[in-house]
Amino acid sequence: MIAAIVAAAGVGERMGHKVPKPYLLLAGKPILAHTLGVFEHVQEIREVTLVVHPDELDYCQAKVISPYGFKKVLRLVPGGKERQDSVYNALKALQNEDDLEIVLVHDGVRPFVTPDQVQQVIQAARSHGAAVLGLPAHDTLKAVNAAGEIHHTLERKDIWQIQTPQAFHAVLLWRAFTEAYSRNFYGTDESSLVERLQQPVVVVAGSPLNLKITTPDDLALAEAILPLMRKRRRRRESRSRL
Ligand code: C5P
Repeated sequence: MIAAIVAAAGVGERMGHKVPKPYLLLAGKPILAHTLGVFEHVQEIREVTLVVHPDELDYCQAKVISPYGFKKVLRLVPGGKERQDSVYNALKALQNEDDLEIVLVHDGVRPFVTPDQVQQVIQAARSHGAAVLGLPAHDTLKAVNAAGEIHHTLERKDIWQIQTPQAFHAVLLWRAFTEAYSRNFYGTDESSLVERLQQPVVVVAGSPLNLKITTPDDLALAEAILPLMRKRRRRRESRSRL
């Protein structure tokens, strides 16, 4: 069985809005509803555990889950202080599922992931144990100190920007989380916890359109991208009907 965890429990300080980020409207629909819609359509995914801020459980039910009728969202779990704590709460909720094979983790504010990308990450995780979506860096990357001065330049050819989804054999992910907590290690994504176990994590080519909506500029960009994504989806759907 393949289960998805959608993390949407962040406070979203960078957006500067009263409405929390996952509930901001993108073409009249909450960002989170766009994201959940993708998982609803990926056949391999049997169920979704959604993590939201503890104060937003009812709000999420009323604004996202009920109005859009998501059938795969079987659990709504309160998030924790850090993203890692939120995902851990979801993992604990999944712990008693005995036929759990793969767990896929995705950011609630990445609405433009495609079913193809989700399926490719699942396939790669099945073969290799752990897989993430990512992009080779195109800009020159530099480490900058607190005074705003460049410390050094990174070797760009080795650098990838990592996105979500990230998918893992369930047993491996559970081991990575328990090991991280036993050492008080915090990472900004799940694969960094698996890397610590010296286990391989493969990167599947993502797309710059798989935007994480973090700032008001990202939301404006998302509004601009949406028609293109809809056009591509229609093309995909008509191809699959042939
Ligand atoms: O903070 P960051 O940009 O890494 O957040 C990525 C995703 O993780 C967002 O969808 C956010 O809602 C979620 N998150 C969470 N719990 C937290 C912090 C972030 O579920 N404590």
